[in-house]
Amino acid sequence: MIINTPAPMETSTIKADLAVIGAGMTGMAAALFAVNRKISTALVGQHSAMNFASGIMDLMGVHPAGQQWDDPWKAIDQVRYDLPDHPFAKVENTLIKESLEEVSNFLEGKLPYRRSMGTNVTLVTSVGTPKKTYMVPKTMWNGVKALEKKAPTLILDFTGMKLFSARQIASSLEKIWPGLRSKTIDFPKSELLEELHPEHVARVLDLSANRVALARRIKPLVKDVEYIGFPALLGMYKSVETVAELETLLGRPIFEIPTPPVSVPGIRLQEAMINGLGINKIFYSLSTMATKVTRTDGKEFITTIKGNNGNQTIVSKAVLLATGRFLGKGLVAGRRGICEPLMNLFVTQPESRDGWHRTSLFDPKGHPVNRAGIQTDSAFRPLTSSGEPVLDGLYVAGSILAGSDWMRMKCGSGVAIATALAAVKAIETAGTEK
Ligand SMILES: Cc1cc2nc3c(=O)[nH]c(=O)nc-3n(C[C@H](O)[C@H](O)[C@H](O)COP(=O)(O)OP(=O)(O)OC[C@H]3O[C@@H](n4cnc5c(N)ncnc54)[C@H](O)[C@@H]3O)c2cc1C
Repeated sequence: MIINTPAPMETSTIKADLAVIGAGMTGMAAALFAVNRKISTALVGQHSAMNFASGIMDLMGVHPAGQQWDDPWKAIDQVRYDLPDHPFAKVENTLIKESLEEVSNFLEGKLPYRRSMGTNVTLVTSVGTPKKTYMVPKTMWNGVKALEKKAPTLILDFTGMKLFSARQIASSLEKIWPGLRSKTIDFPKSELLEELHPEHVARVLDLSANRVALARRIKPLVKDVEYIGFPALLGMYKSVETVAELETLLGRPIFEIPTPPVSVPGIRLQEAMINGLGINKIFYSLSTMATKVTRTDGKEFITTIKGNNGNQTIVSKAVLLATGRFLGKGLVAGRRGICEPLMNLFVTQPESRDGWHRTSLFDPKGHPVNRAGIQTDSAFRPLTSSGEPVLDGLYVAGSILAGSDWMRMKCGSGVAIATALAAVKAIETAGTEK
């Protein structure tokens, strides 16, 4: 609930132009865009926000149900035509391109990504299905090439690793990729461990000596193969170096395959973004939750956050809500419907719970509950139930928006990044007009 009250007296207060709430892909991209435009920014959200995300960036892959697109721009045009409440209907292609370019340029020296200009690429997922996506970590790029060529390829996994099976991937793909083989090996010095955690292995491989030991075990297996695929755990902070050194040691191009959560590429992406932004004096990162947002009579927002020693506050001219959907509790589903818990914003949703889901769980059309969310105007200001902007200075972006069903349409990162830029540009424009 937004209440117009005077600012509470707090000892620990941060002043910034913008408070971004939520540190998933949307919040991080918004912070980057804001800082690049000299807007001082406080980003509030836990630093584990990306532990679940695969780290690959979809733009638009599927629409309508079952139709996969090679050209995401044609897909977006179709979406705008069919679903005028989709967030892409509020942004131009030039802005979407600019947003992706800006994120990609920022990451280049830290955690480089690759894409095939203008088209989707196809990547193998952890369950062995080919998936169309737009931008992938450089460490996965050889996987796109290997699949394209159907080259003789060996996929490896490690004894004790849960939820990732090289054998399952190879058998799921055998019809379309006959040259694919699989092998399970013991990770060096892990023989006594019952379970192998991807995060732990990734950190171990940041050290060159461990890469050498691993390559020694793999070398005898790769005589007839052109490419080698690994679960995505080749280094935490030094993934590019790890892949390069293993390529040299093994004499083959290698690639990573996304794993189920906990996802090392998701963690890498979050660390690269937050640490990269951290060098800016106008950026504050607060790894905690916002508990309340109010507004003073002087039209500043007061965001209350849980600090180490009690509550702290952020005083800002604008707030951008990027708190995501049900998983991150940006939306909460209850008996009476779906609510937005931080500011009690109006949520567009089916009239009753009976309308949330279609009869079949796997209905290719998806479920209406996944299109529920916050409706905004063209400047990404949230609207009341009667269609008025809630407050000047308040903006919303990312997966909390109504209309996207990102998981089914494969547009998660695209919507997150593009709407973050659109909202930040609106904030910049509003700031210069005052
Ligand atoms: C399992 C999984 C796999 C994915 N795979 C892909 C993929 O293959 N390709 C792709 O493009 N995208 C993928 N994504 C989606 C992508 O990472 C983003 O989740 C998506 O783009 C939406 O981002 P978001 O920032 O809007 O929301 P979220 O990622 O949900 O982030 C919102 C964050 O805000 C936090 N938050 C909520 N309330 C508060 C509060 N009061 N104070 C502070 N913080 C708060 C939440 O805890 C959460 O961490 C995946 C996501 C998941 C979960």
